[in-house]
This record gives sequence, structure tokens and C-alpha cells, in this order.
Amino acid sequence: MKIGVLSRNENLYSTRRMVEEARNRGHEIDVIDTLHCYMDITSSNPSVRYHGEPLPKFDAVIPRIGASITFYGTAVVRQFEMMGTFAINESVAISRSRDKLRSLQLLSRKGVGLPRTGFANKPDNIKDLIKNVGGAPLVVKLLEGTQGIGVVLAETNKAAESIIEAFMGLKANILVQEFIKEAGGADIRCLVVGGKVVAAMKRQGAEGEFRSNLHRGGTAELVRLSKEERATAVNAAKVMGLNVCGVDILRSNHGPVVMEVNSSPGLEGIEVATGKNVAGMIIDFIEKNAKPNNTRTKGKG
Ligand code: ADP
Repeated sequence: MKIGVLSRNENLYSTRRMVEEARNRGHEIDVIDTLHCYMDITSSNPSVRYHGEPLPKFDAVIPRIGASITFYGTAVVRQFEMMGTFAINESVAISRSRDKLRSLQLLSRKGVGLPRTGFANKPDNIKDLIKNVGGAPLVVKLLEGTQGIGVVLAETNKAAESIIEAFMGLKANILVQEFIKEAGGADIRCLVVGGKVVAAMKRQGAEGEFRSNLHRGGTAELVRLSKEERATAVNAAKVMGLNVCGVDILRSNHGPVVMEVNSSPGLEGIEVATGKNVAGMIIDFIEKNAKPNNTRTKGKG
């Protein structure tokens, strides 16, 4: 097969691993810098051009679209879908997952367990916003944050009020969320490929840190999932319409709750912590599913 990885950097661990596994299986695979792709969107015969030439017709593309280039990146994926190329994650599903509010609303509508969550832009009654999600301790999150930056724990209602006011002063969209204390500073990253959890790790925050992000000094280890946790991760991936994703779960006293679904999950942490060949499983998934026009929306979404 001919596979394209849409990635800004061919040296990234995840990109390198997928290239390696595809070549091991005898496939041709190229890394394409998403932002360097350009196209004539009005042509009746859609194509994508790169370095002055049309790209060959790929059987499948693996979008690794960073959050900062979601807008352009999903347009490129959509163009491939219009050409009948199988995208392991469809452009609409990637866009959907990048909108945190939309994701939480969709997950909630389908009954997936979530931390009690409120969101606001300019709440006219902050006390009521806080009361509405059960009061302190609360986690206040900047919607645009990543790697744990902009995630603040407010231990009292007073602290929550000041933090919300400060964020409002910055004109930011915020999430106000029940603090899952019983998670003990740990979360679980489930890697879902083709409707199955293929690997899972528990990330534990550094001593005294409630955020488990590896970038913040957290550590990762292999974890055994309960049936309910497994079902929650699979269900969350299905609701988001993602074939390959990372589902982050907290162990709460009202069952597993989903914090986030990531459409370009990093493979390094999970492969190292679990010893599983996740990149290989992604290529296996492509082998089974990459048929021309085998995307649900064909770029129409
Ligand atoms: P980011 O997307 O910036 O990583 P997250 O929302 O994933 O932000 O939060 C970072 C970390 O903080 C999570 O991995 C988790 O360990 C912790 N955390 C986030 N929300 C909660 C919560 N409601 N209760 C307990 N811990 C939380």
C-alpha cells in the first residue's frame, strides 16, 4: 500500500514509529508536511500538490494534526477524503474532538461518564456558576490550554471566584469542573484503535501535584482496566467518530469519567510504559480498512 503521514516533523517519535512499522510490513510510506500542501479546491479532479508536483494517490493517510494547525490541517485531510483516500481519522471527527465544549456536550448526550462540568465566558453570577457544579474544591480550566497549563485547582469557593474573575479578565473561555480528588493525582490514558483499547497506562503526577501530565514530571506505568473503563474509552472514541485516539479517564467514585479525547495521541509514552507495538497496530488497522472511499463523509462533513 501507499500511505501518507501528515505530520509537520518526520523526526517525531510517533511519526518515525509509524514509518518504521509500515516499511516492516512492506508498504510505501511518505511523511508529508501538512502546511506545505496546497490545492485547487475547485478542480473536478481533486488533488493535493506538494513541492511543485501532485502527490501520488495514497491508499491511506495518517493525519497527525497538531492543535495549532487544526484549521488548515483538517482542510488538507478533507481534500484527501474527496480524492477517495482513506483517512484513519476523518476531518470532521478531528475538528469535533478539537472543540472541547462540543466534545463534552456530545459525550454527555450519549451518556458517557464525565466529571460534573460547567462552562462560561462572562458569567453574570459567578457564585451560582460555582454552586451549579457542586462547589469547591473545583478545577478551573482555560479552554485553550494544553499540557496542564491553565488547569488550576481551587480549594475553596472564594479561591474559585478569584480565579474565575482573573480568567474572565483575560477574556478566556473557561471550564469549571468537579475536582476528582479520589483519582489521587493520576489519570488513565487509553489508546483506542478500531474500536478496541489496545494499550493503557496510568499517569501519576509528581508528589503534591494533582496534574498527571508527563510534561509536568508525571510518571507512567502499565495499568489493568476494569470492564467499565474499557467500555467507557471505546464508547467515547465511537461518539467522537475517531478510529485512532487517546481517551483520558479519571477514576472517580461515580465510575470512570472522561476528561478528553485526543485525535493525535503521542505514541512514545504509551509504547514505553506498556511495551506494546501501538504503531504496528495502527498499520494493521489501515491494512484491514483502507479501501477507496471507505470514509463515512467523503469530505462532505
Ligand atoms: P491538558 O489538556 O492541558 O492536559 P487536562 O484537562 O488534561 O489538561 O488536565 C491536566 C491534568 O490535571 C489531568 O491529566 C489530570 O491529572 C488533572 N485533572 C484535570 N481535571 C481534573 C479534575 N476534574 N479532577 C482531578 N484532576 C484533574
